[in-house]
Amino acid sequence: MPKYMTKQRKLLTEYLSKRTDESISANQIAEALADKISKSAVYRNLADMEAEGKLRRVASKGSREIIYQYVDEEKCHDCLHLSCKNCGKTYHMENAAAEKIINSVMKNEDFDIDKERTVLYGICKDCKKQ
Ligand SMILES: [Zn+2]
Ligand SMILES: [Zn+2]
Repeated sequence: MPKYMTKQRKLLTEYLSKRTDESISANQIAEALADKISKSAVYRNLADMEAEGKLRRVASKGSREIIYQYVDEEKCHDCLHLSCKNCGKTYHMENAAAEKIINSVMKNEDFDIDKERTVLYGICKDCKKQ
């Protein structure tokens, strides 16, 4: 936590921390907070938070919009994330399964995976049912 947090930043953090691992566009955030924070301040703060690793930018299908996910430092720190290309939801991969992947990449490729920055994209089970 930075010692100094602007009021805008605080409002943004409050809003986002209730939406951990949800994909949310910069525009949606700006609209939700429109009566409290100006659009340009929202965008500026989001860029700062991304630079600090508090937000992850996610790929969005066919859209030029910027989509973010709020990273809950405690919950997300030690997780591999799975992100659905269809609905945009992100899941925490089960630890045992994640370890298996990480260990096998380490063994076969001699490559250490950075869990915090790694997202696997695919289709989630809810979307597969449809
Ligand atoms: Zn997470
Ligand atoms: Zn899905």
